[in-house]
Amino acid sequence: MERKGSIDVTTANIFPVIKKFLYSDHEIFLREIVSNAVDASQKLKTLSSVGEFKGELGELKVYVKIDKDAGTLTISDNGIGMTQDEIDKYINQIAFSGAEEFVNKYKDAAQAIIGHFGLGFYSSFMVSKRVDIITKSYKDGSQGVKWTCDGNPEFVFSDVDKADRGTDIVMHIDDENKDFLEESKIKDLLNKYCKFLPVPIVFGKKKEWKDGKEVETDEDNVINNPTPAWTRKPADLKEEDYSNFYRELYPYAEDPLFHIHLNVDYPFNLTGILYFPKIRNNFEVQKNKIQLYCNQVFVTDSVENIVPEFLTLLHGVIDSPDIPLNVSRSYLQADQNVKKISGYITKKVAERLEELFKTDRTGFEAKWDDLKLFIEYGVLSDEKFAEKADKFILLKDSDKKYYTLEEYKNLIESNQKDKDGNLVYLYANNLDEQYACIQAAKNKGYNVLFFDGPLDNHFINRLEQKSEGKARYLRVDSDTIDRLIKKEDEQAVALTVNQQNALRNVFECLLPKTDKLNFSVAFENVPGAEMPVQITLNEFMRRMKEMSAMQGGGMNFYGQMPDSYSFVLNVAHPLVKDIIASEESACASKVNPLISESEQLEEKKKNLKGDKKEEDIPQEVKDEIKSIEQQLAQKLDAQKTIFKEFASSNDKVRQLVDLTLLSSNLLKGEAMTQFIKRSIKML
Ligand code: ADP
Repeated sequence: MERKGSIDVTTANIFPVIKKFLYSDHEIFLREIVSNAVDASQKLKTLSSVGEFKGELGELKVYVKIDKDAGTLTISDNGIGMTQDEIDKYINQIAFSGAEEFVNKYKDAAQAIIGHFGLGFYSSFMVSKRVDIITKSYKDGSQGVKWTCDGNPEFVFSDVDKADRGTDIVMHIDDENKDFLEESKIKDLLNKYCKFLPVPIVFGKKKEWKDGKEVETDEDNVINNPTPAWTRKPADLKEEDYSNFYRELYPYAEDPLFHIHLNVDYPFNLTGILYFPKIRNNFEVQKNKIQLYCNQVFVTDSVENIVPEFLTLLHGVIDSPDIPLNVSRSYLQADQNVKKISGYITKKVAERLEELFKTDRTGFEAKWDDLKLFIEYGVLSDEKFAEKADKFILLKDSDKKYYTLEEYKNLIESNQKDKDGNLVYLYANNLDEQYACIQAAKNKGYNVLFFDGPLDNHFINRLEQKSEGKARYLRVDSDTIDRLIKKEDEQAVALTVNQQNALRNVFECLLPKTDKLNFSVAFENVPGAEMPVQITLNEFMRRMKEMSAMQGGGMNFYGQMPDSYSFVLNVAHPLVKDIIASEESACASKVNPLISESEQLEEKKKNLKGDKKEEDIPQEVKDEIKSIEQQLAQKLDAQKTIFKEFASSNDKVRQLVDLTLLSSNLLKGEAMTQFIKRSIKML
């Protein structure tokens, strides 16, 4: 006998809502229906274990079947089943008040709506024109029931003969969703959502190759692993099990460095395994690989609102029924449980790293280069993690030796303090390009650190800030060796203003000048130094530029500045002295008259102006001043021409400039070719 009824929806008709709003995410219907079947199986297991169900449990399995001819997708279980009353209670009476309002608010969170309203079953209507429930309760003497509904609130009940307990959900797939009748599509979805469900999910038969053809065997094709590693006790697992599970999750990834098995049941429930992948410079691609499960049902692979951002670099699985899935993202971050969970994971990760460091320092050092970026990211973005990490952060020097912060400080404390008592940490980020400067530092007995990671600049800034001004980090080429760590007051440069001007002009005219490159000539007086010149790059400017480049855009202030190098001449060096002497003998007779003429002109200008204000100067005097200024400019140009003539005809000067550029990797293109030609000629 047929019985008719209408689904009890309080305010709005649920079906159009389901179809309209949940459309984008409709594939999750499969997850919902399969996990209902799994739940029904688990419930029966529980009833059996407490003695409420006394019958034969048998093999609990969920079957997924496609019938292309009938246009149906069927999910069957041999779980608890339902009586007609239960269908009435659990399926027909849906409390669905304010559906429209809610759905409008969370338009892009189909999952949230489904979870929130317990609409799991009804999500089948996203892809079906009709759904049948054929079910028989586990209770003795139950009658098989069929419930059928075509997407109107009306449904029809009828009695059916069903041999075994359990439920078939038969979805008559609608025309727009025919792809859900494709084997490959369902296989992919089962693989995505159901891979680790706790009850075997069977999809067709196992296939094998026979006589060059793929043929079906009699064996059920179970698509899931019902007891994934994270659900088992750490004591029962070997190292191999962890790596096999990693392979199961990420078949193509490189082996991870190590793992953490998470297992808490108070004050929240959380299990999972996190893996540390090898993270090099391409860390964006490593992000967001953690999968979130809720009782072994896949929920999402974007956990960025659940764990601190740096932890999204880790891989693995988190399973927790205590992470609310039915709320918006901003709410999620504010949720107390989520906060606790994220704090717990951070703590575990830090503890695991500390343990590795303490128990196997050599192993930890060997992994450091692959771990460093992750740890730096954590230190820079999470204060709590940073506090813990101070104990195991390592600094690597240019000889590939590793030190803790404490050890390194002790190492350099006696020798690398400047005259004001500040500790100077020297570093390089390219061992080849900065070779000469590194050697110069080593010759002084200094140690040079090696930093070549994308976050190192930020990391160095943090270390400096933490030292409260007592420590400075300087790249070895950011100044001449004696100025990097100033031990005593510098010796004054014993050159007249005119001598300095001359030298500046001589060298500047030979140095490259482009939009991206800028040189200024500077002087120092270091008797006994090996090198006559050194090119330096100001630490602060360079770091600012690098950091703004990292933040992208390039339209910012620092990003647009050229690289400003200093070309520092050591006036105490014999070669420089020699150049000064030959410059003077070549140029003085021509330049000196120009200088004294200029001086006279300056004097004249000064007298004309007096201490009058600009507006009190009569026009004819203004004109005269202007003409003097023009003459001054001409004199200056004339001087420059003389210096340039000297510079470009003097091989020693040109060779010195080129060699210095070459040592800093700045001699390029035509300048390089000319240098080689000139050098050969000199040979
Ligand atoms: P939820 O699973 O969130 O409770 P659903 O709409 O998915 O919401 O299901 C409603 C109820 O219907 C379930 O709680 C369960 O009692 C019952 N049910 C659904 N599917 C099955 C099934 N395959 N076997 C037995 N009971 C089921």
